[in-house]
Amino acid sequence: MSNVPLLPNFFAGRWQLGQGHPITLRDPVLGTEIAQVTHEGIDLAQGFEYARRIGGQHLRALTYTQRGELLRKIVEVLNKNKPAYYDIATANSGTTVKDSAVDIEGSLFTLSTYAKLSEQLGQKQYLVDGERARLGKELSFQSQHILLPTPGVALFINAFNFPAWGLWEKAAPALLSGVPIIVKPATATAWLTQKMVQDVIDTDILPAGALSILCGSSKGLLDQLQPFDVVSFTGSAQTAQTIRCHPAVSTLSVRCNIEADSLNSALLDPHTTADSDVFNLLVSEVVREMTVKSGQKCTAIRRIFVPHALYPAVAKALREKLKKITVGNPRDDTVRMGSLVSQEQYQSVVAGIEALKKETEVLFDGNPATLIQADPQTAACIAPVLLGLQNMPPSSQVNHTEVFGPVATLIAYQHIDQAYELIESAQGSLVMSVYSDRPEFIAQTALKLGPYHGRIHAISPEVATLHTGHGNVMPVSIHGGPGRAGGGEELGGLRALHFYHRRVAIQSSLSALDLLTGEHLPY
Ligand code: NAP
Repeated sequence: MSNVPLLPNFFAGRWQLGQGHPITLRDPVLGTEIAQVTHEGIDLAQGFEYARRIGGQHLRALTYTQRGELLRKIVEVLNKNKPAYYDIATANSGTTVKDSAVDIEGSLFTLSTYAKLSEQLGQKQYLVDGERARLGKELSFQSQHILLPTPGVALFINAFNFPAWGLWEKAAPALLSGVPIIVKPATATAWLTQKMVQDVIDTDILPAGALSILCGSSKGLLDQLQPFDVVSFTGSAQTAQTIRCHPAVSTLSVRCNIEADSLNSALLDPHTTADSDVFNLLVSEVVREMTVKSGQKCTAIRRIFVPHALYPAVAKALREKLKKITVGNPRDDTVRMGSLVSQEQYQSVVAGIEALKKETEVLFDGNPATLIQADPQTAACIAPVLLGLQNMPPSSQVNHTEVFGPVATLIAYQHIDQAYELIESAQGSLVMSVYSDRPEFIAQTALKLGPYHGRIHAISPEVATLHTGHGNVMPVSIHGGPGRAGGGEELGGLRALHFYHRRVAIQSSLSALDLLTGEHLPY
């Protein structure tokens, strides 16, 4: 019998404790039990219907401006309770304060951005999409597209690495669109999501049914989906495949957004020299990307492409920086990198490194690390590993295996077309960064590699202190990527609202269209 708290679910408008066998959440550094979760025994059909009917009705009755105001109030509540979120992140995710901030401050920033964006939409309850189009010779019968909030519920199935941002980056556009939410956080790190939802629910700022949470297994959730619901999934390519094949998606056409794994890359301009600013910018960014959140970021740099002649110099510069990374208990101020989220992830990262080592050379391996204030037998801590490939075939495992930890591979290219080909051969990524002081090279790379990515991040000396970071997802830019990355698209400012709306063409007389596109309409 465990004496840690069983986290309640908020479902069907009330707090409910699951029954049966709960799953225990652990501190990944200390190995201690911290909480339990389950939603076994809770009536799923009732909760989905409550959110869909009651939550949807309430939210759709509001205007975009009013819903933007709700987002502002959520930010206020979360801001007030922030210290508790940092404590939970340390205990449940094993992250340092800096790494927890990526998740926690990132969610507040995203919510605030959408609150601000709502000002562009005004006191309306639906959106007009584009211009009217004539349907025939006569002007008096025309077509106008409009966007209406989908009359369903948005189910979020989230990954373990962003328990805060993962919820709010999806919730902000959904709530602004007028669509109620049910979130199922990844079990390993569910506590932070649950606590944030609890704080928002307890302040009564959202209408009934607008926000629900179920912690624990995903079993049975997809079976509840109906045609006008949407599902937004973030996680591994393997689980994504299961979701795509579920009858809700394959038969009922439930709209589905998938954010899956990705082998993101960094590309150094072939004209770079080892003593240039561009060289140093690449080295700093790669080290940052490898180590923030112990490399557990879907956007982290996994493949680093450099001109063949610079391979030894880049390897040396990265090694020098990586060996200074301190690893251990995130409660110790001298620790730069905390732990992975669980022992399972630790085992998976170790196995991934071993698989890649079979065809790469080891340029740096900080393991076994001397851990600060942590027991290597218990803590899921791992030091950075830099692998190298001087002649990479496109079939290489480096193009296929995502190791979700502080691990990257340095790859030498002979000529730029070969680099482009190797980057493309990962079959679709979330983001790539290009390091160059030549605008023509940046533009050429953006056009060449754009179709294979959701985002191209160009770092040149003129933006050295301004750029937002390769791996940071900014709410005004889209997040998602083609192919292997899941084929999804989130954020991108108001573009995100499209996922939560249904587009309909209204073919009608001008008088009805005038009424529809007017400002003060009954819904
Ligand atoms: P995961 O194992 O696929 O789990 C993701 C979520 O799916 C969890 O909530 C999980 O629940 C749930 N799930 C598991 N099996 C399911 C099923 N059969 N049906 C429905 N849901 C199911 O992924 P993860 O290990 O948490 O996350 C790491 C992966 O996510 C990495 O590959 C990373 O690249 C990717 N990721 C991508 C992005 C992006 O934006 N593209 C962002 C973050 C992470 P349980 O936790 O209860 O098993």
